[in-house]
Amino acid sequence: MLASTRDIIGIAEEEGIAVGSFNVYNLEGVVAVIRSSEQEKLPVILQIAPVSLESVGSALVALTLAMAEDSTVPTSVHLDHCPQQDQIDRVVSMGLRSVMADGSHLSYEENIDFTFNVVNKMRSFGGFVEGELGRLTGTEDGLTIPEYESLLTDPDQAADYCDKTDIDALAVCVGNIHGKYIQEPKLDFDRLSTIRDSVSVPLVLHGASGLPEWMISRAIDLGVRKFNVNTEVRTAFLESVSSGVGDKTLDLARLMEISIDSMSQVVTSKIRQFSGR
Ligand SMILES: [Zn+2]
Repeated sequence: MLASTRDIIGIAEEEGIAVGSFNVYNLEGVVAVIRSSEQEKLPVILQIAPVSLESVGSALVALTLAMAEDSTVPTSVHLDHCPQQDQIDRVVSMGLRSVMADGSHLSYEENIDFTFNVVNKMRSFGGFVEGELGRLTGTEDGLTIPEYESLLTDPDQAADYCDKTDIDALAVCVGNIHGKYIQEPKLDFDRLSTIRDSVSVPLVLHGASGLPEWMISRAIDLGVRKFNVNTEVRTAFLESVSSGVGDKTLDLARLMEISIDSMSQVVTSKIRQFSGR
């Protein structure tokens, strides 16, 4: 069933677990995430990157919303990392009610103004807004943030930011990165703990691909309720599809089914970790 991100995170909060939020780019990705969440009977979030709006746009949004409605578990649809109000307006007109307002490229004051405006618009119909403070290094959906531009979330500023924007959830930068961790991941749990004590909204951790299980559990204990996962699922899709590239007689439906299985294995493993199973 189509649910609001607010309700899904509320379930996670009540149960002391976290929910997985998975980037989807096509039908197969949506099927894989929903299949896993139904098998595990766990709520889930499907998220769409703005880059997809430029290519398959409204069709992907409509498909994702329709499949979320048919799901047997609470499922929400979310727009990931969006820096532009017009893109947010566009997905809202298509029926999407959950967005990440990404003002991380702006100055602090501009980020507050941008996010506050998004919240104001979304509130009029009960929409959900995730904000971000700090800046993640790494590569995602064609955007690379070099290490020297990365910024960890400042706990005092986080309290002020949440207060002034009235966001529903805060994405934090505590050493997590987008894409592949080249070295052993190092999360600043002291910082995460201080942020947790400084704000009252649920926390979100992007870049959950490649984090060891103990870090996931510790982050959940410290208030993370939504993990964003992209790289590991994308890699599963790419590897499964490229394994069939040399075979010119391969049935495409079969190849897509293989890719769904492959992505679903990753999703199942992640949502089990996020739920403490
Ligand atoms: Zn992200």
